[in-house]
Amino acid sequence: MARTLVTLRTHDGREVAYPRPSGKAKFTPQTGAGISWAKWSWNPVTGCLHGCDYCYARAIATRFPNAFPAGFTPLFHEERLAAPVNTSVPARHQGDPAWQRVFVCSMADLYGRWVPDEWITAVHEAMAGAPWWQYILLTKFPARYVGLDLPPTAWVGTSVDEQKRVRIAEDAFRHLDGGAVKWLSLEPLREPLEFTDLSVFDWVVIGAQTGTRQPDGAVPAFAPPLEWVARIVAQARKAGCKVHLKPNLVNGRPGMTLPDEYPTAR
Ligand code: SF4
Repeated sequence: MARTLVTLRTHDGREVAYPRPSGKAKFTPQTGAGISWAKWSWNPVTGCLHGCDYCYARAIATRFPNAFPAGFTPLFHEERLAAPVNTSVPARHQGDPAWQRVFVCSMADLYGRWVPDEWITAVHEAMAGAPWWQYILLTKFPARYVGLDLPPTAWVGTSVDEQKRVRIAEDAFRHLDGGAVKWLSLEPLREPLEFTDLSVFDWVVIGAQTGTRQPDGAVPAFAPPLEWVARIVAQARKAGCKVHLKPNLVNGRPGMTLPDEYPTAR
């Protein structure tokens, strides 16, 4: 039987036909590498225009056209907004904090310049309606957080991969309201970065660049030198941040024992 379609909209108002999901919208459990501290993902928005050449999300979106009918063009999935209230932690994972956490828009930047205000409002309302989850947020445009009423259980994060993003991130995080945790993702760390003030963050995560197969060719993996990582770890500790180093920084088995700390909510 032919599946019915829903009509979704892109950021610039184009209509895209998408198969209507057969069941209730729910979070997606993470399998494989993913991130160890959040066991779910939820993508009420997909697609991003930042254009990072190493983007794993674009690599996935362009490889599976049935699941991503608009490719990596920003698309609003209104039909997924009820996922926070429809999802429950499986009995065997009750008590595991990672199963209380959901990575919001792992396939997008929800706070990109191009994202309509209504999309952000709708996603924030969906989060507010299910405050028992910890929502992991991450953007490369943190200025968009400023002035927003951020969900109280959110881990509000920004991703910095190059020096040019450092000042913007520090400025924005000095002016944020709300959220349970403020965190900084340095993944992939592609340059030696100089921060003025890491104390605006509770938690610093550092990772390497994994190789991806992009539409216009392969982008290789990149491993930052130890010195770049060690300097930031020392500065983060001095500023009182918790530090988590991703296992992809060391590929040896066994490799080094890496800092594996987590923040406490404010
Ligand atoms: S900001 Fe994130 S989702 Fe957007 S292109 Fe860069 S890596 Fe991909």
